Amino acid sequence: PPQPIIGPPPKSQKYKGVKHTIMVMSGKGGVGKSTVSVNLAVTLANQSLKTGLIDADINGPDDPKMLGADNEKLYAQGDKILPVKTRYGVDLVSMGFILPTEDTAVIWRGALRHKAIQQFLEDVMWGERDYVIIDMPPGTGDEALSVSQLIDADGVVIVVTPQDIALLDAKKAINFANQLKVPVLGIVENMSGFICPHCGQTVDIFKRGGGEKAAEAYGVPFLGRIPLVAELVEKSDQGIPAVVYSEEMRKIFDEIARKVREQVEKK
Ligand code: ADP
Ligand code: MG
Repeated sequence: PPQPIIGPPPKSQKYKGVKHTIMVMSGKGGVGKSTVSVNLAVTLANQSLKTGLIDADINGPDDPKMLGADNEKLYAQGDKILPVKTRYGVDLVSMGFILPTEDTAVIWRGALRHKAIQQFLEDVMWGERDYVIIDMPPGTGDEALSVSQLIDADGVVIVVTPQDIALLDAKKAINFANQLKVPVLGIVENMSGFICPHCGQTVDIFKRGGGEKAAEAYGVPFLGRIPLVAELVEKSDQGIPAVVYSEEMRKIFDEIARKVREQVEKK
């Protein structure tokens, strides 16, 4: 079990020069947090916004691979970490750049994890940034808490899958955000319907609408629905984000980005 952190809780702080930080989280793992984080970040970068991405999922740091940057390394300047420039205009920090091999399991204890996350969050030389997206650790446990305590995020984007359980998952994430007093920017429903690679039609293999129901039930915005796309897995493994090759995905993420920006930038 994670060890308690001794001493006063770390001070919440915002990066100098970073205008907006957005956390992407979920009630559980494997729902598409990284997919949403990466594509949202690329979408913002495509809108000429200076965008950074923090892969804060230190157990499963997938973002370098998803951005075709898994052969890169992190460098330091003085005691600051320099983010890796990816080919999609998004600068990235990830534990994936530090772990010796892809399949090295991270089995550190709580305090050490917290330390690593703290460095990631506090010691990055971002410079001037419009947005930093944080791909959060899965769920609402200790690691997610560590991350959120270190940063005053502008808001949280919650990713759920379409099943009924989405209601419960969304609730967990919303409670978490409420406790931290971070606004919920809305819910994204991922893996919502299936686009047939042969006929191009959307087929419902899972239920649809769990995310939308959750948004309604808890009075938060619904940001959009992302279909299950067969080629996404393969392309994502090749380091090509969906918004780069799919017009449909571009439209969906433009809309998500619009709704996020509308809320965050009006403040
Ligand atoms: P998380 O970061 O929440 O663990 P990921 O974004 O890594 O989730 O997604 C889990 C897996 O599902 C990955 O292999 C990813 O490529 C795949 N995936 C995510 N969203 C979709 C989608 N809309 N269509 C097809 N595959 C998807
Ligand atoms: Mg992930």
